[in-house]
Amino acid sequence: MYFLDLNLVTEYKSNSQKARVMTEFWTWENIFCPNCWDRIYHYDNNKPVADFYCESCKEDYELKSWKTLWNKIADWAYSTMIDRLKSDNNPNFFFLNYKLNYQINNFLVIPKHYFTQEIIEKRRPLLITAKRSGWIGCNVLLSPIPESGKIFYIKNWENIAKKEILQNWNKTLFLRDKNSIESKGWILDIMKCIEMLKKKEFTLQEIYNFEPILRQKYPNNNFIKDKIRQQLQFLRDKGYLEFEGSARYRVL
Ligand SMILES: [Zn+2]
Repeated sequence: MYFLDLNLVTEYKSNSQKARVMTEFWTWENIFCPNCWDRIYHYDNNKPVADFYCESCKEDYELKSWKTLWNKIADWAYSTMIDRLKSDNNPNFFFLNYKLNYQINNFLVIPKHYFTQEIIEKRRPLLITAKRSGWIGCNVLLSPIPESGKIFYIKNWENIAKKEILQNWNKTLFLRDKNSIESKGWILDIMKCIEMLKKKEFTLQEIYNFEPILRQKYPNNNFIKDKIRQQLQFLRDKGYLEFEGSARYRVL
């Protein structure tokens, strides 16, 4: 069981500062790079790119923490987030979720290749009376992200084994092959459809059944079925799926 250390922040007044200091310290002490399991280091303060980096494999990580509420994480500038999605030095994200008593419920990493515009929810501009009047923030939504993109170190208070974390991370790396945001969106959508079936084996027809939902999302695309088959083939080529013949697939 892990708790954030309140002794670190007796000098601080603002709650957001306290949270930042405690969660960064805890992460630095307890979390290893999911890509190579080396130590991670903290960047100098106010480095805009990220909070942590791994010297061995050069991955960057940004840490966000939030209390209690699960599935929605607030407090980024919307425009910064959208710019990041398009840039090459987009970091991976560490999410730390803790309870009111500072016990850590969940710690997970979301690889940067799972970030698409769809998971960014724009918020209303702050009111004129607010200190940062006109500032537009955003939420990151966890629910549209396929489960394979949520790599837990701690899940509902339970520690996940190192081996499993490394394996789960490795399984996602094929998504880095595809650069264009649009096709990545398609792959993630199909992964999400497969997940919704909640079973290891499925037929092509079962994925075709999602056509109406996908059509809503891509109204200008008249070849939804082709797109579906194309993504399934891609997932098969990357070892995510196995083709079992006569339009049957199995998740590996
Ligand atoms: Zn590393």
